[in-house]
Amino acid sequence: MKLSIVIPMYNEEDTIPHLKNRFNQLFHDWSFDYELILVDDGSRDRGPELVQQWIKENHHVMLIKLSRNFGHQQAITAGLCESNGDCVVIMDADLQDPPEEIQRMVEKWQEGYKIVFADRKTRQDGFLRKILFHLFYKIFIFFSELPIVINSGVFGLMDRVVVNHLLNMTERNRFIPGMRGWIGFETTTIYYERQKRVGGEPKQNLKRLISYALNAIFSFSYKPLRASFLIGMGTTIFFSIYGIVLVVMRLLNINVVRGFTTPSVAIFFIGGLMLISNGIMGEYIARIYDEVKRRPIYIASKKTYREADSDLIETDLNDAYYP
Ligand code: UDP
Ligand code: MG
Repeated sequence: MKLSIVIPMYNEEDTIPHLKNRFNQLFHDWSFDYELILVDDGSRDRGPELVQQWIKENHHVMLIKLSRNFGHQQAITAGLCESNGDCVVIMDADLQDPPEEIQRMVEKWQEGYKIVFADRKTRQDGFLRKILFHLFYKIFIFFSELPIVINSGVFGLMDRVVVNHLLNMTERNRFIPGMRGWIGFETTTIYYERQKRVGGEPKQNLKRLISYALNAIFSFSYKPLRASFLIGMGTTIFFSIYGIVLVVMRLLNINVVRGFTTPSVAIFFIGGLMLISNGIMGEYIARIYDEVKRRPIYIASKKTYREADSDLIETDLNDAYYP
């Protein structure tokens, strides 16, 4: 059996040495073959150099360079594409996902599970992030039409079959935890303590996280559309009845001259509702637009690896990934 480990990295020069140390301790205990695929998502620091050094020391390590910074999910997709193991583990470079758990995941896989989710028991993030993540998962569960493991990020193991299905899914806006959950098969969950970042700063800024969250909701559910439809219906019914009441009152000459309040409140309220529902439709239209453009999900430019008895090999890739 062969295990592939996919690790996206973006300006991770501070964490790569730690990553290397932790893995070097693990490799000895592994009785199976493995490959470690680091995907350089357009780093502008010494991270890739450090990885090249690592490849010189260990020919199981491989580096895929993307042509620019595409983002976390895209970088992972690139790694999955390059992988050829019988099962694949995805994890972050910052050691928030402890690599010691991999052994446990592999054991679960050997028991016959096709997906092993890793669920965070605890989260060592900042206060604001903790709250935002919590809120996000609550909202996601509410809107989503599929069950995903709460608190499960990308960390986890997939069988080759699942990876192939994932790569065959064509969407451009990829939310891998959701897509992986959608695929099905026999799944199980292990629990682990999410660690602090070993070095450097988080590379996913708030904007990226928000767009990740929006993808998670809008790529997986029509509920927002339905909600805006239902709210529209409700408002229409309410104001129709109110309109009838006003006309009747006018005919009966009760309170004929009314002030400015009713019309302005109605206009603002309806205006706001219309803008919101436009925005919700916009989210879907933007996604449809992304799909019809059929752009690749990422562009890979270079692959660095080594055979057991060779020097570093650098090949130019002309890879663009079109599912
Ligand atoms: N990452 C990436 N491309 C990006 C942003 C992040 O490949 O544009 C990598 C990053 O190097 C790390 C992983 O994705 O290995 C998770 O990023 P980060 O730790 O910043 O995210 P968080 O832990 O806050 O979700
Ligand atoms: Mg992190």
